[in-house]
Amino acid sequence: MPIRYYSTNRNLKNIAGIIPFTGTVSFKDALLAGQAPDEGLFVPDSIPQISLKDIHALKGKPYREVALLVAKAFLADEFPPEVLSKVVFDAYNYPVPLEEVYPQAFVMRLDQGPTASFKDFAARMMARLMSHCRPHGERLNILVATSGDTGSAVGDAFHGVTGIDVTILYPAAEVSLRQKKQLDTIGGNVQALSIHGKFDDCQNLVKQAFSDPALAKFNLTSANSINFGRILPQSIYYVYAYAQLAAPGEQIVFSVPSGNFGNALGCEYARRMGLPVAKLVMPTNENDEFPNYLKTGTYRKVAPSRACISNAMNVGHPSNLARFFELYGGTVDRVGNVHRYPDINEMRQNIFSVSITDNETRQTIKNIHELYRIVLEQHGAVGWAGLETYRKVSADKHLAVSLETAHPAKFPDEIEKLLGFSPDLPASMKDIDQRQGGSVAMTDNYDNFKNYLQNNLKIKE
Ligand SMILES: *Cc1c(COP(=O)(O)O)cnc(C)c1O
Repeated sequence: MPIRYYSTNRNLKNIAGIIPFTGTVSFKDALLAGQAPDEGLFVPDSIPQISLKDIHALKGKPYREVALLVAKAFLADEFPPEVLSKVVFDAYNYPVPLEEVYPQAFVMRLDQGPTASFKDFAARMMARLMSHCRPHGERLNILVATSGDTGSAVGDAFHGVTGIDVTILYPAAEVSLRQKKQLDTIGGNVQALSIHGKFDDCQNLVKQAFSDPALAKFNLTSANSINFGRILPQSIYYVYAYAQLAAPGEQIVFSVPSGNFGNALGCEYARRMGLPVAKLVMPTNENDEFPNYLKTGTYRKVAPSRACISNAMNVGHPSNLARFFELYGGTVDRVGNVHRYPDINEMRQNIFSVSITDNETRQTIKNIHELYRIVLEQHGAVGWAGLETYRKVSADKHLAVSLETAHPAKFPDEIEKLLGFSPDLPASMKDIDQRQGGSVAMTDNYDNFKNYLQNNLKIKE
């Protein structure tokens, strides 16, 4: 039976503002819609199994082959194998280093893609899948509001993809110079708008555009982090690491620095596909709503979210928590109200979470460099600190892999302060300061924005 996708809000009857969507959709429809019509998140109604034999056979094989195994398991009903093969071949053309810290403990660097953050993995596969399922002969127009990393990963991923144009909105005063350079200079089918306003204003402009009937002819769609098309690719690198490092049948622990929980969710699905994950460690920064929930059994979001140095994880109510609750039998909505609690004992058995302070994060960057000559930036350091905490409190000695989610050269000031040198830019970013391009500056007035879209977006190919 083909896999169908339903909404995490489907059972929410009699809740103000929610009209539950009780149907199911295909992967392609979930990919193009992004979010369910009731503002719930799409989840698969079954999870395909991958055999350990097939996984171990990938030892020493390139990343793309692992990607193809996982993609086929989930998507073979809707995409022919030659399409999937081309998608992963085009998407994954960069290395995925596994660095040994000490015996049985590794760092997996997901920072070698074109924008040097792990978000490249998901954005690049999603972009190519979307290109294949757009309506025949028509153009899709993606609108993304970003506060930094997501916009450049998505923009870069769609760069040059046939039939899809991307408009990125970012808050002019809230991005770093290097981030601005990254966003403004993608070029081709990707245009950046520098908005005189805050991130929330950008997001509101995009939301209004999606619900404006006058813009429907442009096939507007989103590429945000709740799209299931971004979750699936994030289960692949867990299978890859396991295939490279594990002895036959051995169990493994992963530590995933977490903000909106999309990355960790990829690991949860990999385990449910059959990967022998002994524990999923999900360290957060000082936004500690989830570790507190696992400790106390009561969920309270952190509002407003706390500003920590691992700024891509400053999330007070993770959007993908709805999918975690769903997988463990619970329901939580977009604003953080719990309608049914999940099975917390089962969750505690599979997941460990801990909040890491900024001080601990800085200390970790110093220690791992001093002891092992490994350079981590602040997000990866939260991951490593979480793993060390877990190993200490549990005495678990399994093979363990912690994820580095961005390249240290993206945070030259913090690293320079702590380690006394500024890390080299990765190959993909060496020319960043010389790149040419520009953004269109705009106020946060909706009518201006709408005019811009009507004058600049294209309809047909
Ligand atoms: C987005 C991001 C994270 C958090 O990932 P989630 O999937 O939101 O939990 C961690 N590190 C970096 C560098 C990121 O850009």
